[in-house]
Amino acid sequence: MTNLGLQYPIFGPEIQCPHCRQTIPALTLTDTYLCQRHGAFESDPKTGELVHLQSGRHWRRWENEWYRQHTHPDGIRFEIHEALDRLYTQGYRATRVIIARRYQDLVSTYLERSTPWRGQSDTQRPRLYGLPVEFSPDPKDDPCWDVINFDLDKEPGAPVQYPYFRLFE
Ligand SMILES: [Zn+2]
Repeated sequence: MTNLGLQYPIFGPEIQCPHCRQTIPALTLTDTYLCQRHGAFESDPKTGELVHLQSGRHWRRWENEWYRQHTHPDGIRFEIHEALDRLYTQGYRATRVIIARRYQDLVSTYLERSTPWRGQSDTQRPRLYGLPVEFSPDPKDDPCWDVINFDLDKEPGAPVQYPYFRLFE
């Protein structure tokens, strides 16, 4: 006798739609989830990814959050830009970007190179939006780096839009 519990797609009987965060159900006996607004998402048991059939976008999940997987440098650059904007309006400024190692080849040619100071043999350090860039540890050492795209180091900056934001809360 078949255990129906094992028939669900890899992410279980329901997920949150990566686009609108509505809880959406799995269609019985398929690998597909259906959002009324965004259409079908198919889970791939081999890659552990969720694929939006209409757009071809891929996501991986870490601690109940979906992380879009980028195939073009503009995608990840845009996402980092949005996160920097968000930090700025929260009264922080970023001091460093750490990008997942799996994107190293994808983004490397797009990163700005700072010219080394004359006479110094320092290797050129890549920058993005003026911030120093580093690449993440190997996902074998820290598995979240197989899923998440980047992280920002931050420090309190001048509050911009919220004058009563308390820096040290
Ligand atoms: Zn949706």
